[in-house]
Amino acid sequence: MSPSKNTEPTRRLVDRFGRVHNNLRISVTDRCNIRCFYCMPAESVEFMPRDHLLSFEEIERLVRIGTTLGIDRVRLTGGEPLVRRDLHRLVERLANVPGIVDIGLTTNAILLGEQAQQLRDAGLKRLNISLDALDPEIFERVTRRDSYDKVIEGIAAARAAGFSPIKINAVSVKGLTEGQIIPFAELARQTDTEVRFIEFMPLDADSQWDRDKVLFADEIVAILQAEFGPLEPVPSANPNAPANDFRFADGVGRIGMIASVSQPFCSTCNRFRLTAEGKLRNCLFSLEEVDIRGILRNGGADAEVADAMVASIASKNEGHQINSATFVQPDRPMYSIGG
Ligand code: SAM
Ligand code: SF4
Repeated sequence: MSPSKNTEPTRRLVDRFGRVHNNLRISVTDRCNIRCFYCMPAESVEFMPRDHLLSFEEIERLVRIGTTLGIDRVRLTGGEPLVRRDLHRLVERLANVPGIVDIGLTTNAILLGEQAQQLRDAGLKRLNISLDALDPEIFERVTRRDSYDKVIEGIAAARAAGFSPIKINAVSVKGLTEGQIIPFAELARQTDTEVRFIEFMPLDADSQWDRDKVLFADEIVAILQAEFGPLEPVPSANPNAPANDFRFADGVGRIGMIASVSQPFCSTCNRFRLTAEGKLRNCLFSLEEVDIRGILRNGGADAEVADAMVASIASKNEGHQINSATFVQPDRPMYSIGG
């Protein structure tokens, strides 16, 4: 990967609140091989027509233009990014873009058994695996699919390919995943695994989200402290990191909380998103988008694409309004935005 000093940004993606954006999350597909209830509908999902998806060439062009505006980190997501054919080829292209210093991938790991080594060889350094339960029955209740063994296989393949530490993100849902917290903590304490619990956000397809279904970070900390003794906050090396990390009293292992609902981290946000069909979203909860695919496919110049990115960031709101009575859930659920 090329060092950022090769491409000095000509402008920066700064919003009205002074937040500088250097981190782009790129969705490569809205398709998925499971159906997590907090993200997708159970049945009859209407996916984007394939010719609506940005090609790898189009994504690479957008990222190259983004580096002139200070983008130096990208993360591939979806839907499930590993269902997009030859994803490693995109990783390879992006790894060769001057100015890109970090490429991450967020995956459910079901197809990692086949792809982990290829991705590693293509230049992928960081992998976040989404797994909400270590109990196969709870896993099936969340995902509405029987793929637990494939996930475990995928995690083993990721380890064998050299991804270290293994990072697991677990969405926490009240009345469903409380029993998973201690087993995940044991995993974090006994193996080279970082576990982060994510609060359930109102981005589901069935509009079933309710505050009462959020297992809050403070409640998770209380469950952990009752078992392991006091947790100690660990100051983060990265001021833009969404997770609050804690270490256990005996010094063995650490655990993270992504408290998007109860402790929003909007004031330090440096991220924006590109949907699989080429819409820029300046926030997960944004109600507006900027159409980049239209510019790319209508012969738009690089400067037009850059202006569209600048405009998207310029219109970013101060923060999400989940905790306000006026909150409006976006009409696109998580799988169609790109998490
Ligand atoms: N399919 C991949 C995966 O699951 O890792 C990538 C896409 S998924 C949308 C990205 C992340 O968003 C996953 O960690 C998932 O658990 C999380 N997610 C999806 N819907 C969510 C919701 N309503 N609240 C909190 N996290 C959610
Ligand atoms: Fe698929 Fe990821 Fe959504 Fe689960 S969270 S349905 S794995 S896109």
